[in-house]
This record gives sequence, C-alpha cells and structure tokens, in this order.
Amino acid sequence: MKKTLSFPPRAGKHRQDRRCLQRMLPAGRATGKWRVQGAAGGWGQFVATVLILVAQSSASLFAAEPTVQLPQHLEQGQLVIGHAPPNAQIEFDGHSLRIGKDGTFVFGLGRDAPAKAELEVRNADGKSQKLELNVAQRDYPMERINGLPQQTITPNPIIAARIAREQAGVVEARKRDDAREDFLQGFQLPVKGARISGVYGSQRVDNGVPKSPHMGLDMAVPTGTPVHAPADGIVTFAATDLFLTGGTVMIDHGFGLDSSFLHMSRVNVNVGDHVRQGQVIGAAGMTGRATGPHVHWGFNWFEVRLDPALLPKQALIQ
Ligand SMILES: [Zn+2]
Repeated sequence: MKKTLSFPPRAGKHRQDRRCLQRMLPAGRATGKWRVQGAAGGWGQFVATVLILVAQSSASLFAAEPTVQLPQHLEQGQLVIGHAPPNAQIEFDGHSLRIGKDGTFVFGLGRDAPAKAELEVRNADGKSQKLELNVAQRDYPMERINGLPQQTITPNPIIAARIAREQAGVVEARKRDDAREDFLQGFQLPVKGARISGVYGSQRVDNGVPKSPHMGLDMAVPTGTPVHAPADGIVTFAATDLFLTGGTVMIDHGFGLDSSFLHMSRVNVNVGDHVRQGQVIGAAGMTGRATGPHVHWGFNWFEVRLDPALLPKQALIQ
C-alpha cells in the first residue's frame, strides 16, 4: 500500500516529532531563536482547527459526518496534507486541488496566511461545503546579515537582468504538477549535525538594507558536507553558478511540492534524474549570496513558500 501517513496526522505525534528535530540541533544562538519562535508563535497559541459546516444542503444524519480530514493544528508556513472522499473537488485560494486516487490532497499556508482560511469542497453528489480553518499566526524574528558582497544587495542592471533570467527558470520548474505522492513518505533533514543559522520567515536586513523575508531553513555545515534528498522526487532544476543562489538543485515531490537547495559547492544530479530519499545530490558550500558555508533548504507548494521545519517527518510513517 503506497499511502504511509495516517489521516488525519495526530497532533500529539506531530508536536513530539518537532521536538525531536529540535533536539537533533546543537544549542546555539540561532537554535535559541528557533526555540523562542516556536514558543512565541507556534504551539502554545495553537487553536484546534474548527471545521464549520457553512453550507449543507441535506439534513440527513450522514450529512453531519466530516467528509474531509485535516491536521488538527494549522499554522502559517505549513504544508497541509488532507484526505477527501474519491471524486471530491476542492478549491483553496483560487487553486483547484489535485486529489489522488487514495483521496490525498495538499495545500500550503504561506508565511502571512490570514487567521481564517477556507476550503470549498464539492462531493461527487454535487453537494458543496465551505470549511473554515483556523490558522495560527506566527511571530517572525529579525535577522541582520552583514558582510555580504554589495553587488548581491544592490545589483547593477546587467546583474539584475541575469538574476531575473535565472529566477524565471526556477519559477517555470515550480509549475510542475505531478500525480506522484513521494511526499507521503515524510521528510528527512538533508544534512546531519547542522547548526540552524537562519529560520523561515525572518525579516532580513542585509548589509543594513531591508530585504525580502528569508523563506527557507539555513543549516550551517562545512563546505563539502554531503546534501541528501529529503524525500524521493524528480530533479527539475540543477545549476552550478546562479548569481544569488550559486549551486542550486530543485526536487519535485509531486502535487506541486518541491524542495530547493542553494549555495551548494557541488551538484551531483541532472534535470530529469529520479532521486531516492537519502541519496546524495551534491555538497554544501557558500556559492552565491552567502557569508558562510551552509545549505538553504526551501520548500514550495507551487509559488507558495513553506517552512521546511514544519514538514511531516520520517518518524510519522507507520
Ligand atoms: Zn537561506
């Protein structure tokens, strides 16, 4: 049986699993920030997701039964994996969601997702429901980074054009929408023994200039440290020398979900390669805009950037 996660994933296990991830990280300044962030913006303030049946066209006893299963707790930056009856249609934020043969569907809650989200579910019998979801709001830290090459902060027009060209290739790769359910196996950390040097969502001030928030997880490790695929997937982008992100690899895990790895000193894979969870895809480095060797792990649901620290872990597999 391909499906390996239980639905809905149990909140208690999820919490415990996240603590495991934190325990794997040695104490340090950045790790401390993570803990503060978790305490201030996350678990303590979680409100159980309430599913409210807004529109229901039948008064039968069966109509009150939940038709869609979701995690109990939702927060900004989260990949949400749900389960629906076969042949249901689900709309979220203007997207018509892919629903697998086993009823699996996914969507992503962005960094600034509002406190209320809505799923519109149409069942095979034509009945439609609106499910209102509570989304816990997070506080994001401020991170000041100094010592970056100034050209990477305020690029000249030639460099700016190159950055735009390179970004277009990344955007194109993120349009992919495969029926593969590689994400159901859970995710492993791509490097072992890392110090977390940057967290998802933080407001960045680079060389004193306010920039876009940091939309990934930075793991500081020595240059040359092997980088492993966190889950199975297909390589959709591979380059060794992008201006901002240096050695860059993207892996598609199905249903519009992709991992990206930046600043790598070596890239071992090519576009189209099928990779397995744990396979070495390259090595950590500090290519592109970086002040020290690390791996930046980004995670997207199409164009929505999510927090890799919230991904379902391998330990959830049953
Ligand atoms: Zn980063």
